[in-house]
Amino acid sequence: MKFICIGRNYAEHVKELNNPLPSEPVIFIKPDTALLQNKGTLYLPEYSNNVHYEIELIFKVCLEGKFIQPQYALKYVNQISVGIDFTARDVQEECKKKGLPWTKAKCFNGSAAVGDFIPLSDIDDLKNITFELFQNGQIKQQGNSAMMLFDVPNIISYISTIMTLKRGDIIFTGTPSGVGRTVPGDILTGYLLGRKLLEIQVQ
Ligand code: MG
Repeated sequence: MKFICIGRNYAEHVKELNNPLPSEPVIFIKPDTALLQNKGTLYLPEYSNNVHYEIELIFKVCLEGKFIQPQYALKYVNQISVGIDFTARDVQEECKKKGLPWTKAKCFNGSAAVGDFIPLSDIDDLKNITFELFQNGQIKQQGNSAMMLFDVPNIISYISTIMTLKRGDIIFTGTPSGVGRTVPGDILTGYLLGRKLLEIQVQ
């Protein structure tokens, strides 16, 4: 399986990192070794001093497809949760400065934390999904799918014009503002529509 991630999909977050608003989705991938299951421990990579949490809505692919039209895109995902796209921000800034790929900043082991999935059919309104990240019990990020620059059907359609989506792939849809540093000893928890679906310990 692979992780396909969207960057810069919430205007407030684009602003906080001083990035330009994208005219098409920004995508990158993570390897399967980035997977960190709910209740797992993230071991911070030694080459970074500034790993950030990024809470995101995530979707699991249930059907193989390519060149998917937006109006059929939701047939290709059937589960939803929250995940954390852990990012070595210092390394990413260096890569950006040099015009190099972000891979080293995004793809370390455990960098894709994945909450417990719930059926997408449990969600009444895909355009009004609230989600939150807490760091040691303090709220740090609050998002709503209504604020996405590119919505889920368009993200799925866009990705599928570049690479085939396969069953089991997981799509990260971008983070709202409020990203910040995580340090050893942290407990990070993620909520979707008030339901706690993710808890990660950081070491
Ligand atoms: Mg992200």
